[in-house]
Amino acid sequence: MQRSITISQIKQAAREAYDESKGVTGGANANYIPYLANIDPELFGLSVTLTDGTSFNFGDTDYRFGIESVSKVPTAILAMIQHTPDGVLRQIGADATGLPFNSIFAILLENDHPSTPLVNAGAISACSMIAPQGASREKWEAITGNITDLCGSAPELIDELYESETATNFNNRAISWLLKNYNRIYDDVDMSLDLYTRQCSLGITSSQLAVMGSTIANHGLNPVTGKQVFDAEISPKITTMIASVGFYQHTGDWLFTSGIPAKTGVGGGVMGVMPGLFGIAAFAPPLDDAGNSVKAQAVIKKFMNKLGLNFLSGDNVTITAD
Ligand code: GLN
Repeated sequence: MQRSITISQIKQAAREAYDESKGVTGGANANYIPYLANIDPELFGLSVTLTDGTSFNFGDTDYRFGIESVSKVPTAILAMIQHTPDGVLRQIGADATGLPFNSIFAILLENDHPSTPLVNAGAISACSMIAPQGASREKWEAITGNITDLCGSAPELIDELYESETATNFNNRAISWLLKNYNRIYDDVDMSLDLYTRQCSLGITSSQLAVMGSTIANHGLNPVTGKQVFDAEISPKITTMIASVGFYQHTGDWLFTSGIPAKTGVGGGVMGVMPGLFGIAAFAPPLDDAGNSVKAQAVIKKFMNKLGLNFLSGDNVTITAD
């Protein structure tokens, strides 16, 4: 079906979804990372950036929260820029795990593969792949430079979060060494884990994440800065990964009810990608049992349902000026 939606309809849907989701309760802040346990649970923001660069922001959209697992997306993109999508498929994989983000069992089930760069194992493996080999500082600059390009503005390390995660990341240490045992870590193990921990500790806003989502939706061209950040062929590859594992063991339920590929983080952020049309990001700290923000899920679902959009509908949707 051919459909057209106006920019003001999108803005209206975002405003209504935001207002109607304010009262959504349930969930709890992540408690296994002390810094996250203490964030104000009432914070709530919603941002949408269209592929023409128009943005809408409601609520706490300038608050810098921990990007956490949403950082797995830009680093997977960087690994594909540097090693091609096939290189990442070969060295990491692109399979849904159907298991929690920090699952060790998933590595064993996949016959020693990390599975996908969008769970902890594959994300640590992706950090190990980032060039230049052996150079922690340059790798870090490549990772943060790429996030800056995707968002159109720089993220900032939250030192306290980084210390908090480093002091408590025992499970991730176990994952890293297990992967090393299977020859799936392609640089120094401790350095790769540290880069992963640091990228998770970057502070980001929902308005920045909406631009990142829109850059992915816009075939790698950042609609705000006009910079081509990655080749268009990478866009459907990263969106496939987001669609298949973005909500971990709840990914099927998420896609079924929301109709948009999205990636979550235990900092309370969710970033969605609507190919060709827009990026969307919501932030609210309390999480469900799989580590996904309860309110961010609610608001994005409401927004999608109000507009009647689903990335698999087959509809040819265009956004028009009013
Ligand atoms: N840094 C967190 C961890 O490794 C990220 C997890 C997440 O956001 N799902 O456990």
